Amino acid sequence: MKNANYEFWFVAGSQHLYGEEQLKNVARDAEDIVKKLNASGKLPYPIVFKGVMTTADGITKFMKEVNYQDNVAGVMAWMHTFSPAKNWIRGEVLLQKPLLHLATQYLDRIPYDTIDFDYMNLNQSAHGDREYGYINARLGLKNKIVYGHFMDEEVQQDIADWEDVAVAYNESFHIKVCRFGDTMRNVAVTEGDKVQAQIQLGWTVDYWPVGDLVEVVDAVAESDIDAEYAKLQKDYQLAPQDNDAKKFEHNVRYQLREYLGIKKFLDDRGYTAFCTNFEDLKGLEQLPGLASQLLMRDGYGFGAEGDWKTAALTRLLKILAHNDRTVFMEDYTLDLRKGHEAILGSHMLEVDPTIASDQPRVEVHPLDIGDKDDPARLVFTGADGKGVDVTVADFRDGFRMIYYPVDCHKAEAETPHLPVAKQLWTPTVGLREGATKWIQAGGGHHTVLSFHIQPQQIRDLAEMLGVTLVEIA
Ligand code: MN
Repeated sequence: MKNANYEFWFVAGSQHLYGEEQLKNVARDAEDIVKKLNASGKLPYPIVFKGVMTTADGITKFMKEVNYQDNVAGVMAWMHTFSPAKNWIRGEVLLQKPLLHLATQYLDRIPYDTIDFDYMNLNQSAHGDREYGYINARLGLKNKIVYGHFMDEEVQQDIADWEDVAVAYNESFHIKVCRFGDTMRNVAVTEGDKVQAQIQLGWTVDYWPVGDLVEVVDAVAESDIDAEYAKLQKDYQLAPQDNDAKKFEHNVRYQLREYLGIKKFLDDRGYTAFCTNFEDLKGLEQLPGLASQLLMRDGYGFGAEGDWKTAALTRLLKILAHNDRTVFMEDYTLDLRKGHEAILGSHMLEVDPTIASDQPRVEVHPLDIGDKDDPARLVFTGADGKGVDVTVADFRDGFRMIYYPVDCHKAEAETPHLPVAKQLWTPTVGLREGATKWIQAGGGHHTVLSFHIQPQQIRDLAEMLGVTLVEIA
């Protein structure tokens, strides 16, 4: 998965009251901050210094240019001096991209021995930030504020984390979900308002008949499957177990056919996420298991049972996390014993192997539902660590994002009769409280689990998207 080549534009706020010489100093210091932030190695996307802003007309022109440039993901603003905030009103009302107010000061200390009124004419962040903050608050902007010295590692990490959220926000408006079939019959939580999703979240959600997919799957060349089979043997452990060798190879190869076919279908039409439904597979030999797992590994969003909301959310959070350990999940079964409280997360087949802590095995087993041939799937053990678990639910008054921080761990034992990938987690507030509040908020059983994303990034993302966030922490 490759994210677009985004950059962020940086401006310093000032005014003409202190003379041209001071404005040159403002520019010099701001440029130095940008240079040092880029050199820190912490930022996932570069910052470009775009000058010192001193007039309402200049600021308005700048913000319009930010809106117009597709590769610019957002604005960072710093007030080196006092910048009269009425100048920012028109431009910031027009700005349609994320805004970060870097409330920093060029020096990290008070230079007691040398400080004088020349120094004070230039270094006014302490009060300049308040003037700028007032107008942002007055306008009701949902801007991020990062406060502290720009060389502080925590400050740099906050900027880096926000950059990833801002890029995900920009990319949200490019997410296109391909639905093969409808949502699972009679199920409520996977439903939703697709028009509202496009208005509020930027997601395009389209239906395609599975028959159109079957044509593409059937047309995949045997030589392409040969190449994928060789890669599979290198990356994973092939485990035929009780299957005879011929059947095993056929069923694995058919999943690779589905993998290549779905990938081509999506790529040809610009889709970056998809969902399947085991009730709607006519013409396919198997429910896509290994196929869906490989596509998730590659960065595509996925939702089972027609769950397009989770498919889009998976894609969105994979962009935010650079496809690092961020996966579609389902609350599968529970350990309710004191001291062991946990949710076992899994799915029938479709669990993303980017969270594997061992080498995944390719296995072929029967599947009771769907009435199809035994699907090949990757079986593996999840990982230990801190994470977040997130879902999106649709209500009449808009989308609601529900999440909790979680402690993730590996299964306590193997499950020889349940051949699926397994990941356990416990809400950090505890299973009883966490799950009670989740259920009360109307959160579904399909989620995105991430080891990479920080709680603050979920808060910032919900704020940018304008969705109600239910935080269970
Ligand atoms: Mn499910």
